[in-house]
Amino acid sequence: MQPDIIDLRSDTVTRPTEAMRAAMMEAVVGDDVFGEDPTVNALQTKAAALFGMESALFCPSGTMTNQIAIKLHTQPGDEVICDRLAHIYLYEGGGIAMNSGASVRLLDGDRGRFTADQVADNINNKNDAHFPHTRLVAIENTVNKGGGCIWDLEEIERLRALTQHHQLAFHLDGARLFNALAAKQQNPKTLGALFDTISICLSKGLGAPIGSLLLGTRDHIRRAHRIRKAFGGGMRQAGFMAAAGLYALDHHRHRLTQDHEKATLLANTLSPLSYVAEILPVETNIVIFRLSEGVTPERLLAYLSDHQVRAASIGKQLMRMVFHLDVTHSQFDRLLGIVRAFR
Ligand SMILES: *Cc1c(COP(=O)(O)O)cnc(C)c1O
Repeated sequence: MQPDIIDLRSDTVTRPTEAMRAAMMEAVVGDDVFGEDPTVNALQTKAAALFGMESALFCPSGTMTNQIAIKLHTQPGDEVICDRLAHIYLYEGGGIAMNSGASVRLLDGDRGRFTADQVADNINNKNDAHFPHTRLVAIENTVNKGGGCIWDLEEIERLRALTQHHQLAFHLDGARLFNALAAKQQNPKTLGALFDTISICLSKGLGAPIGSLLLGTRDHIRRAHRIRKAFGGGMRQAGFMAAAGLYALDHHRHRLTQDHEKATLLANTLSPLSYVAEILPVETNIVIFRLSEGVTPERLLAYLSDHQVRAASIGKQLMRMVFHLDVTHSQFDRLLGIVRAFR
C-alpha cells in the first residue's frame, strides 16, 4: 500500500479493486488481433449494446479511439470543427495533424460547449477551392477543461440535425460520458442515437487500469480495426484488460454520483476561502478553481503535498482536483480540513 495519499490529479490514478483484479485473473483470453479473445469480444458487444450502436473496438487509450475516429472521418486537408478547450486539440500531441493531416477550426464555446449556430457559421463553402473541406464536428462530454461540465441534450440534437444536413461526421469524445449520464440520469442509447462515433474511457472514473472503446457502425469499426493496427494498437491477449472493463461497466457506473457529491462539497468549502478567486460551476467529478492574485499554484501545491494531497495546476492560476473511486470518505473529510487551513 502507498502512504495515505489523497491523489486528486486525475481520475486516471485509480488502482484496480480486489474484485476487479480477481475478474482480470480469471479472464478467458485469446489473440485479439485475430478477433479471438472472447473477453474482448464480450466487452465490445456489451459496450455497443449499451449505447444501441452496431459495433465497438477496444483500444489501449482514449487518445487512440479519438484519433482513429478522426482518421475514419477525414482525408488529409479536411477540417475538423471543435472547441478551443477540446482534448483532441490540446492534449493529443498534435495527433489531428500528425495522424490525419487535417486542419482544425476552433470555436469559442461556453466552457467547451458551442452551439449549432456557431458551427453553421464555420462550415466552409465546399464549392470554393480556397477552403478546406469541413468534414467532422467533434464535441467532448463532459468537458475536461470546462470543469467537467455537461452538454445540453437539445444542443446536441441541433448539432446532429446540422451535421446531417451538411453531411458532416459527428464524433463524441466521451472520456467521461458515464459521469454525464450518471449526473443527468440519461440512457446511453439516447446519446448513441445522435453520433456517428463515440469514444468512451474505462480508465477514468470507471476505475479500470487501461482501455477505451470506439463505438460506431459495423462499417466504421471494420475500418477502425485496420487503423488501430496501423497506429500500433492491435493487442494480443487483451482480455485481461477487457475483463477489468467489463467489471467496471457492471459495478462502477452507478457509484459515479458519489464522486460528484464530493466535488460539489469541496467547491462549497473552497468558495468562501480568500485564496480562491473563482470556481467553475461543478456538475460532475471535476473542480477547477482560479487562485487569487498573489497566491501561486506552486505554493498551494507544495502545501498540499506536505499534507499528502496531490492536485494539478492546469494553466495560469488554475487548479484542478478530480474525484474518483480511490478517494475514501475519511480521506475526503481530511481534505476539507486541509484546504480550509491553507493561508
Ligand atoms: C483522458 C481523456 C481522453 C483520453 O486520454 P487517454 O489518456 O489517452 O486515455 C480523451 N478525452 C478527454 C476529454 C480526456 O479527459
